[in-house]
Amino acid sequence: MIPVLFGRVAIIGAGLIGSSIARAVRERHLAGTLVVADRDAAVCARVRELGFADEVTQSAAEAAREADVVIVCVPVGGAGAVAAEVGPVLKPGAILSDVGSVKGAVLEAMAPHVPAHAHLVPAHPVAGTEFSGPDAGFASLFENRWCIVTPPDGVDGEAVTRLCDLWRAMGANVEVMSAKRHDLVLAITSHLPHLIAYNIVGTAADLEDSLASEVIKFSAGGFRDFTRIAASDPTMWRDVFLQNREAVLEMLGRFTEDLTALQRAIRYGDGEALFDQFTRTRAIRRSIIEMGQETAAPDFGRRAAEKPKHEQS
Ligand code: NAP
Repeated sequence: MIPVLFGRVAIIGAGLIGSSIARAVRERHLAGTLVVADRDAAVCARVRELGFADEVTQSAAEAAREADVVIVCVPVGGAGAVAAEVGPVLKPGAILSDVGSVKGAVLEAMAPHVPAHAHLVPAHPVAGTEFSGPDAGFASLFENRWCIVTPPDGVDGEAVTRLCDLWRAMGANVEVMSAKRHDLVLAITSHLPHLIAYNIVGTAADLEDSLASEVIKFSAGGFRDFTRIAASDPTMWRDVFLQNREAVLEMLGRFTEDLTALQRAIRYGDGEALFDQFTRTRAIRRSIIEMGQETAAPDFGRRAAEKPKHEQS
């Protein structure tokens, strides 16, 4: 059994990610005491029913007091306000972390509230689903998924090691990088794909009624995969685009240029350009499978019955 890593762990925000961390910490006995805070009384009541926390409270400050590690699991637009609430009660040596999908803006919002005697070590588990809330979480969410840790300059090395250990103990593979690099990488691997999905599903929704019903009927031709991504939480994704503005706009600019080149190839019947591009992209899919980030099982017809309820986002 993995030894208890922290005496008291506090999770702020009992949604998909917060409740998954709580379940993983609990299942693997990584904390002496696990306290979960959520501002919503109904969510707190549900967490009590689900029974994955030792203590449940509506007050983030109450949860953070005496905690060895506090993990903020709210939409990135709310991270600064939560840090302001918990910062004054952090005990000496406490680690304050988060799980936000954007790192630069979150770091800027949280850092001013962290007292000198505590350590801010932001992180982002690159794992999720399109579901939200305390019922959506599950303990194996992070297994064999990446968790990117983005320590600010000058932060205590031992605090970084301890947070990395916690993520590894939950089954994640850990990579340390700068917040700036994280935001650029995630802009192309996660944020832009979500924007494209929201856009294509929105375009389909605006089609006249007769065409729209056939879009739903024949959605297996690729559209259905976009609808899964476009069903992701609106608050979370609104915040991601507002908070990672620069990197998303940079990648969107490149994407638009490349899309225009494809448009041009189609217009002028340049089959060679299309073939070359599609061959190149097929190789990228192969390398993702080789790195163990996907399986090679065919999926366009859906692995119907055995398809897991929760997939990586
Ligand atoms: P979620 O299921 O919607 O849960 C978010 C929780 O935070 C809810 O309990 C919510 O309470 C609470 N909350 C919302 N705004 C708040 C605020 N301003 N102050 C305090 N609490 C607030 O969201 P999630 O999917 O777990 O996402 C949480 C974080 O994980 C986000 O930063 C996201 O970027 C990151 N993340 C998500 C995924 C994913 O696939 N979903 C993957 C990796 C990382 P209410 O019900 O009262 O709003």
